[in-house]
Amino acid sequence: MKSKKNILITGGAGFIGSHLCRALINLGHNIICLDNLFTGSKDNIFNLIDNPNFEFVNHDITEPYFRDDIDEIYNLACPASPIHYQFNPIKTIKTCTIGVINMLGLAKKNNAKILQASTSEVYGDPEIHPQPEDYKGNVNPIGLRSCYDEGKRCSETLFMDYHREHKLNIKIVRIFNTYGPNMAANDGRVVSNFINQAINNKDLTVYGDGSQTRSFQYIDDLIDGMIKMMETEKGFIGPVNLGNPNEISMNELVSKVLKLTQSNSRVIFMDLPEDDPKRRKPDISLGIKKLNWIPGYDLDKGLEDTIKYFKLINLCE
Ligand code: NAD
Ligand code: UDP
Repeated sequence: MKSKKNILITGGAGFIGSHLCRALINLGHNIICLDNLFTGSKDNIFNLIDNPNFEFVNHDITEPYFRDDIDEIYNLACPASPIHYQFNPIKTIKTCTIGVINMLGLAKKNNAKILQASTSEVYGDPEIHPQPEDYKGNVNPIGLRSCYDEGKRCSETLFMDYHREHKLNIKIVRIFNTYGPNMAANDGRVVSNFINQAINNKDLTVYGDGSQTRSFQYIDDLIDGMIKMMETEKGFIGPVNLGNPNEISMNELVSKVLKLTQSNSRVIFMDLPEDDPKRRKPDISLGIKKLNWIPGYDLDKGLEDTIKYFKLINLCE
């Protein structure tokens, strides 16, 4: 094991954050999990709360936060699903700007390394396919998704300017659609929606004609990539795409979920949300080369694990 570090994870009680907390605890580090519990939940971290190497701090990153014992920061705090980030769009932008400035300031004070959880949404509705990191994107600055897309683009700008101006040791990853246990059942994302609809015998809601594509990455692959990125040599800052390049249409996904859940639910078609990207698939050659990382988790296996999780949650409710 490498030397024990104090690692702050903002958004640590969320879907991705809770897996990251657990993985870094298992590597022997001290974790400070900072979260305002807007979309996250203590249920996601219940088996860490009593761990002596784990501390939960209920805090909103748009407010300043001070301490002087931090070695690394993973900045994940931000609602990630369209219904959650559109619930209070101004708050979403504040989290991506004021919140990010607060965390960059904390990193500067501590001389800590800081990683930003950016997103494939910075590419918007992409005109080139698959998307490499040097693609500058096709983002609508005034649409319903802009609070998140443009917010996250501004977060990247702030990271770069703190790096150029203050020589901060930064890392940026652009995460593509990720799924797995601990996703919120009510987050409206396609994997959680389809699975919960199927296991509760409700209609499965395909938006648009279902021909739009996404590339789904299992949570374990993402966590592996994020930790590898944090450990890259100083000076390598990214951005690096972290996603699974296996592209699938929503029609194919709905069939898969119906088959794996053995559900008799119907499929219904609903309006496509505004600015919904038509295609999305990461070019991951940079991640493979620089991180020695390959997202290998099989989609059927990942969906089975996620179905098991949601069945358990349904039983507990
Ligand atoms: P999530 O909603 O489960 O987690 C976000 C966490 O941040 C929650 O625990 C929430 O309570 C917390 N939070 C939100 N605003 C906050 C604030 N102002 N102060 C403190 N805490 C706050 O979402 P997730 O899927 O785990 O996403 C985590 C990060 O990864 C986000 O930054 C998101 O943009 C990014 N990301 C996720 C995906 C994905 O597919 N899940 C894709 C791209 C990027
Ligand atoms: N989608 C769908 N049915 C749902 C939820 C989402 O068909 O019940 C579609 C959505 O329109 C989009 C894709 O699935 O084309 C992925 O949506 P999600 O919200 O999971 O992620 P994002 O659009 O942010 O990539």
